[in-house]
Amino acid sequence: MNDACFASLPLCFFTSSCVFASGGAYSAPPPQVAELFLKLNIYRTPFLIYHYYSYYNLILNYFNIILVKYFCACDNSVIGRLVMANILVYLLDGKIYINLTNRCTNDCIFCLRKDKSDVKGQELWLDNENSTAKDVIDQFEDIIKKHVTLHSSPFTEVIFCGYGEPMMKLDVLKEVAKHIKENYPDTKIRVNTNGHANFVYKRNVVPELKGLVDEFSVSLNGATKEEYDELSQPKFDEAYDEMKKFIKACSDEGISVIASVVEGYKGRHLDLEKCEQIANDLGAKFRVREWIPAGY
Ligand code: SF4
Repeated sequence: MNDACFASLPLCFFTSSCVFASGGAYSAPPPQVAELFLKLNIYRTPFLIYHYYSYYNLILNYFNIILVKYFCACDNSVIGRLVMANILVYLLDGKIYINLTNRCTNDCIFCLRKDKSDVKGQELWLDNENSTAKDVIDQFEDIIKKHVTLHSSPFTEVIFCGYGEPMMKLDVLKEVAKHIKENYPDTKIRVNTNGHANFVYKRNVVPELKGLVDEFSVSLNGATKEEYDELSQPKFDEAYDEMKKFIKACSDEGISVIASVVEGYKGRHLDLEKCEQIANDLGAKFRVREWIPAGY
């Protein structure tokens, strides 16, 4: 945070307070209020006052975002949270990505969301965790319309990934995957996961995903629990073993599984040979993702 940022804080605070106190953005009067105005035959004046007040707050809201953006350019996550847009589905390099949640049972030190609020301009912080399968499917269908128009060829892969662990919303994931398989049967579905789902749900959920998910990519991130814990910062102690058991459960179920590692994060190097051996022993393919600062 620089001096200009500090200097702008009182103004940001003032505008935030005004916006917060009034509900944050433009909105029409509630029906009961509008009805009362009509009954009293004084609709026009209070209605106009209400509207001007709402527009005033809308402008304040944008003014506030601009203030933060230009004076506090160092803090992208603040901006992301102010502009929150609930992007559940987005396109990247011709593939469709699904961003179900911001919750995660890890807190990886290399996680992109620590440094950026967006992936190629797509704001992936959500303003709530209440999105339903229908919300996701609606955005998915919108994207498909645009994708087919833009590239005039059908997409081939959908990836559940984003600023959180997709398996934290297992029911939504299953419903969306079912919709895709029923309506776009040639599409490959991959889930990028930390592999903690069986621990979270206290049951083996992998058989429930057979026929819906074509491939899991599970973050192995270490040849030992110590390496894993340092990189992944899991929120429970058994995470490393649980993740490996999940990989085994996928291969036992006959679902393609890749165990992946992030290599070279700020000079940290893993024992790749040992990681590959672990992956293969669990029945998985092995993939090394070189860490790059921008994340892609
Ligand atoms: S598992 Fe994925 S979403 Fe969760 S903290 Fe790690 S990189 Fe981020």
